[in-house]
Amino acid sequence: MLEGRIYDAIQVKCMIVDYSTSNLFASMTSRLEAAGMESARTEASWLLMHVTGRSKVDVISRPNEAVSSEQITRIEGLLRRRIAGEPIQYLIGSADFYGRSFAVTPDVLIPRPETEELVERILNLGPDVLKGGVVDLGTGSGCIPSSIACELVNVECVGVDVSEEALVVAKSNAHSLGASVEWVLADMRDERLSALLGRTFSVLVSNPPYVPDEEAGSLQREVHDHEPHLALFSGPDPLHFYRAICEQAPRLVHSGGHIMVEIHADAGPSVVTLFEQCGLIDPALHSDLSGRDRIVHAKVG
Ligand code: GLN
Repeated sequence: MLEGRIYDAIQVKCMIVDYSTSNLFASMTSRLEAAGMESARTEASWLLMHVTGRSKVDVISRPNEAVSSEQITRIEGLLRRRIAGEPIQYLIGSADFYGRSFAVTPDVLIPRPETEELVERILNLGPDVLKGGVVDLGTGSGCIPSSIACELVNVECVGVDVSEEALVVAKSNAHSLGASVEWVLADMRDERLSALLGRTFSVLVSNPPYVPDEEAGSLQREVHDHEPHLALFSGPDPLHFYRAICEQAPRLVHSGGHIMVEIHADAGPSVVTLFEQCGLIDPALHSDLSGRDRIVHAKVG
């Protein structure tokens, strides 16, 4: 234990000695690699850019530029937290999603690539459908409605979330991106939701909490220990939030409109069956780029 501390102390000391950008980058990369991080180089460059405020081009084109000791101390702190398992996106405070940067805090789920496919499928419905409006239930960072609003400025987008803290993040993201989205604090299961929203939409989208409680132990530690459980776990019933979506669908979506939801990779057939039983039309299961069931798309009769 003591040996470990001395070793750490030596490392900290070494790093505080006037480091050039390239030496620091190499040292950060090898420490992340030694800790088993798959994308060590990328993560080292993100941390370096975040702390120094330099762009990628700047970091690459000026390898001999010195990094200040204050910045090195900050990098050291972040590196340790990363090695202890905190997601890199929370450490740098942002995540890329559908070609844009979104602020993230531990109050919101880190946007995932599979959710980009959800956005892609919604945009593929075309402007004629989307001009009837899009509502996102459980919006978190707001990455879904803000991306849609940025791509198609004439589409009215509404993001709903039960977490006030998440909506603070969502609002700030929309503001930075210049996305016009209306944000509503409400539980997606609340039967008064349609009265609160006061209108219907042509698309209801949702990436609801869908990890069943019983999978808590098998979830990646990085996810389990740092991302908001409110956004991850469905409770004991993995279909809990899809049942709520079925109930909300006829109230929130006009006839002929669409329901597009992200699902757990094992939940495809059960969500399709549930949607059929609820009277939604032609529920179709779509898999993601790695072939895992990911999205169910249905229509409202
Ligand atoms: N995609 C997330 C995960 O697998 C879960 C997101 C959710 O529950 N909506 O960790």
